[in-house]
Amino acid sequence: MKFHVMTLFESIFNSYMSESIMKNAVENNFISLNTYNIRDYSNNKHKKVDDYPFGGGVGMLMTPQPIMDCFYDIKSKLKTKKPKVVYLTPRGRVFNQSVAKEFAKEEEIVFLCGRYEGIDQRVIDEIVTDEISIGDFVLTGGELPALIMIDSISRLIKGVLGKEESFMEESFSNNLLEHDQYTRPRIFEEKEVPQVLLSGNHKLIEEWKLRNSIKNTLLKRPDIIDKKKLDKKELKILRELQKELEK
Ligand code: SAM
Repeated sequence: MKFHVMTLFESIFNSYMSESIMKNAVENNFISLNTYNIRDYSNNKHKKVDDYPFGGGVGMLMTPQPIMDCFYDIKSKLKTKKPKVVYLTPRGRVFNQSVAKEFAKEEEIVFLCGRYEGIDQRVIDEIVTDEISIGDFVLTGGELPALIMIDSISRLIKGVLGKEESFMEESFSNNLLEHDQYTRPRIFEEKEVPQVLLSGNHKLIEEWKLRNSIKNTLLKRPDIIDKKKLDKKELKILRELQKELEK
């Protein structure tokens, strides 16, 4: 997967991508990330990239020329003729694990990070294929949202996670939240790890994990339980838990 990012703040990406799983993913060529400083493409003699909005209003907008020239430069280097171009914006479709899965199928993705009060609409109309929001709140720029997308998409790319860190068991992988987890010591401040996890009985452990995972989802995020996606066994557990919780 090749990520290309148009931004005014390239250094934000360097720090995050040079640590931990993302660093390994880049070093092992599972992903690559190229950042492009939109300001470098400005024709303005002072390298200005923003201007006042027509019709008034607070704040400044990013002007079209530097973004478009930056995009043309990126496009000339891409394999894909019609790449996904994502503009990060609070107005977009809200990002989640299924959107991440959808993007993980791409070969190359271009991200456009806004600043100020956003960007000139004509850029969006001309090059953007997807407007994505990372939630119903407003941030200062699109860099954190782009990194969030890059991180979660990368985790779905084969090889990025080792077997031990497989995404298959993570929250949302089957529309359920993850089960509770414990590590050493067995007793901490008089609180014990659930006995079943120490039993060595894999069948019982798997049953406990599934039940705990359904319970967590029911208690914390009942809105994401899709009954149609649960199999018979899961539905049975769900009904039992619902009854238990009604008491
Ligand atoms: N005036 C814009 C509005 O009301 O929708 C907000 C602009 S915000 C201060 C500056 C930039 O941050 C946006 O252009 C966008 O790229 C990014 N941004 C802010 N919040 C975001 C969110 N929830 N999801 C994705 N990007 C966001």
